[in-house]
Amino acid sequence: MMSSPPPSAQCLDGKALAAQWQADTKQTVDRLRHTGIVPALRVIQVGEVAASSVYVRRKAQVAQALGIDSDIVHLPADVSHETLSDVIVGLNNDSAIHAILLQLPLPSHLNPLVYQALTDPKKDVDGFHPMNLGRLLAGDTPYALPCTPWGCIGLLEAYNLSIAGKHAVVIGRSNIVGKPMAHLLLQRQATVTLCHSKTVGLPALVRQADIVVAAVGVPELVRGDWIKPGAVVIDVGINRTNQVTLVGDVAFEEAQTVAGWITPVPGGVGPLTIATLMRNTVALCQQQVQG
Ligand code: NDP
Repeated sequence: MMSSPPPSAQCLDGKALAAQWQADTKQTVDRLRHTGIVPALRVIQVGEVAASSVYVRRKAQVAQALGIDSDIVHLPADVSHETLSDVIVGLNNDSAIHAILLQLPLPSHLNPLVYQALTDPKKDVDGFHPMNLGRLLAGDTPYALPCTPWGCIGLLEAYNLSIAGKHAVVIGRSNIVGKPMAHLLLQRQATVTLCHSKTVGLPALVRQADIVVAAVGVPELVRGDWIKPGAVVIDVGINRTNQVTLVGDVAFEEAQTVAGWITPVPGGVGPLTIATLMRNTVALCQQQVQG
């Protein structure tokens, strides 16, 4: 008897959705430019972390392609607290700049929380300022929402995948992905379990999940037999196994035979993060010029 082929999850195509969001953003930028308004983003990079350089360049390229005025403020790895603070305050006070992004990680002598709090919350394109995170927690409207989790929510919505009443398991509790992701899901009426490195019995918890969000940074941590049949799997992880190969936090080949929907790596969450950054930049610009 011939065995039937394993079921295959449907792909959540972040790349295609990001292209659509970027096309929409470009139209908005074109309209703003016709009225003499040019959305402007400044990315601050401290030091020479290779992955950061790639991300920063990519963000600048996409911004320029959409007509956003974009530039990188590159500071040396040994930059002082005073100099970095002065740069941020200078951008805060420059009315031609609408969005400020501080690329992480920072060198160990600089605490990112200090500089996120120093950034004008109205220009905080990553939504990391305590006011913006606090508004998210309180169910109020932040000036901007963190790009990666906000992009993941947009992905679920674009594919009409319901969140309300679902059990969502988020693996990873970073301020930039896991925690805001958990709150965005909670706001949308999911029952959320937020896991981390001290969580006991992670596979059993993940097996209960209708929606799994993996934001860990451990290559292929989540195995196929952790996934509940039909679950939605969002893999935020970007791990370099060698110079060229990127893998996620989910063992894709295994998981796709069990899941209902799954994001690939690359081509899933990564492009959405950048597209959301562009959307946030333009939204902040509109908030500032239109009051
Ligand atoms: P962090 O290192 O800041 O956080 C990782 C989280 O994973 C922590 O909460 C940590 O727990 C938890 N963790 C680590 N090991 C385990 C484990 N074995 N079991 C369960 N939990 C574990 O990472 P980020 O949130 O910044 O990034 C996570 C991943 O997402 C990375 O691969 C990163 O490259 C990627 N990323 C991708 C983006 C995109 O656009 N696609 C954007 C941002 C990040 P604890 O808190 O206890 O230490």
